[in-house]
Amino acid sequence: MTSPTQRVPVLMYHRIGSAHNDWERKYCVSPETFAMQMEALARTGWKAVSIDDFFAWLDGTAVLPEGAFLLTFDDGFLGVHDHAAPVLRRLGWPATVFLVSALIGERDVWCEKHNPDGHTYPLMDRAQILALREQGFSFHSHTRDHADLPTLDDNALARQLAGARDDLAALLGAPVDYLAYPYGRYDKRVLEQAQRAGYRAAFSVQPGFNRPDVDRFRLRRLDVFGTDTPAMLRRKITLGSNDGSLAAVIRYNAARVLARLGIQR
Ligand SMILES: [Zn+2]
Repeated sequence: MTSPTQRVPVLMYHRIGSAHNDWERKYCVSPETFAMQMEALARTGWKAVSIDDFFAWLDGTAVLPEGAFLLTFDDGFLGVHDHAAPVLRRLGWPATVFLVSALIGERDVWCEKHNPDGHTYPLMDRAQILALREQGFSFHSHTRDHADLPTLDDNALARQLAGARDDLAALLGAPVDYLAYPYGRYDKRVLEQAQRAGYRAAFSVQPGFNRPDVDRFRLRRLDVFGTDTPAMLRRKITLGSNDGSLAAVIRYNAARVLARLGIQR
C-alpha cells in the first residue's frame, strides 16, 4: 500500500562533465561527484523510478517503493550518455532526459550568451539517445530551441511546444507526453498552450515534494548543483529543499517541533 502521506522528490541535473568557471560549476556536476551522489542515495535507501511509474503513482494506479525518487536531466548533454549512464546502469536505475528537439547532436548554443566565457558543450545525437533508451532512459520535451516561453507570441509558442512534440515523436517513434519548461519559465498562457499542444504534465523548477494532488503543470523539482556534496544532496532530497546545509536541517526540525506544539512562527 502507498501511504497517503508519501511524497516523491524529483531531482534535476543538467550537464555531467567538467566545469571551467564559476557559472558552469553551478549547473555542471563532475562524473566523480555524480557517482558519489548516486551511490550515497542508494546506500541510504533511495531508489530511482521511471517517469511512467511516477505518473501512474500520481494517478493512483500504481504504488511506488519507499524511498522512490525521479531522476531528470535537462537539455540532453552528451555527458549524460558518457558519464551518468554507466553509473545508472550499475545501479539498475532509470532516468528521464528533456531534449531540445532542434539541437539533437549539436551544442547548447542558448548558453553562449549566458556563460561568461561563451563556452558551449555537445548534446546527444539520435544514436546515443536510442542506446540510452535501451538502457531504460525516457526522453521528453524541453521545447524546440530552449526558448524563453513567456516572451513568445502564440504562434511561436505553438511551434516550440507542439513542434518539439512532433520532432521528438518522429525521432523516438513514441509519444512525448511531458515537458520541462526551459529556465523554469512559464506563465498561465504557456501552461494553457502546453495543455493544448497535448502534453499531459510539465515540470517546473519550484522546489518541494510531489504528492498526488500536485498541479500536473507545476510539478516540483530539486536543483542539484556541482558543489553539492553527497551529504548535502541527501539533506536536500530528505527536506524537499534546494538548501542542503546543516542549518536547513536544524530549521526544518525546529519548525516541525514548533508546529507539533501548536506554536506559529
Ligand atoms: Zn534547460
